[in-house]
Amino acid sequence: MGNWKLNGSKTMVADLIKALKAPATECPAVAVAVCPPVLFLGQAQTLLADSSIALGAQDADLNSEGAFTGENSAIMYTEFDVQYVLVGHSERRTLHNEADATVAAKFAAVQRAGLTPVLCIGETDAQFEANDTQAVVQRQLQAVIDHCGIEAFNNAVIAYEPVWAIGTGKTATPEIAQNVHAAIRTFLAGLDAAIAAKIQILYGGSVKGASAAGLFAMADIDGALVGGAALIADEFAAIIRAGA
Ligand code: PGA
Repeated sequence: MGNWKLNGSKTMVADLIKALKAPATECPAVAVAVCPPVLFLGQAQTLLADSSIALGAQDADLNSEGAFTGENSAIMYTEFDVQYVLVGHSERRTLHNEADATVAAKFAAVQRAGLTPVLCIGETDAQFEANDTQAVVQRQLQAVIDHCGIEAFNNAVIAYEPVWAIGTGKTATPEIAQNVHAAIRTFLAGLDAAIAAKIQILYGGSVKGASAAGLFAMADIDGALVGGAALIADEFAAIIRAGA
């Protein structure tokens, strides 16, 4: 899944989508999705109509409609064939002060619209150094479980993204990421073994074409949420192929 963040233009959207169609077609067993900025969803919807690449959005308001200037709702995304919505990305948590409870309400709003939330969780550098990773990701998961119930994870994706690895070029080693993914699955299994076994847990944080295969080889890493490398057609194509 490519998270384009605040990047793009009509030309870039057209060029990038065109370039991703071949690798996506070559790798039918790999689920590929892109999350462009909201303004380009309509264009992306048209360009992706004949493709297996799914569309995602990067955030959604917790309300469906109303007097919330500047916001976009999951229900609106359904008109653009959006399937996935990121919730709780660390940039939203940090730069927009989104608390765990807000993230949980957004997760619920995405599901109310019939879409699949991609719940982003992960610890900061300081929390990693303090050995707090498991406590932090469990707290972030628990907030959503408290608000929505464990059953809500029947239709959700989790993205583990250590904040210290996002946009820094510092990828977690496959072993570090695998340990956290396994702990997330074990935590969920304590509540519902079937959900824990089937939920997709993506890794995010400076994933590149060259590092993807090592991550995907790990038992509990089911894919990647990719920022910077998702803007470079050849890099994202290499990540798609690494998943095949
Ligand atoms: P990055 O971003 O691949 O540029 O580190 C990942 C993300 O923020 O989802």
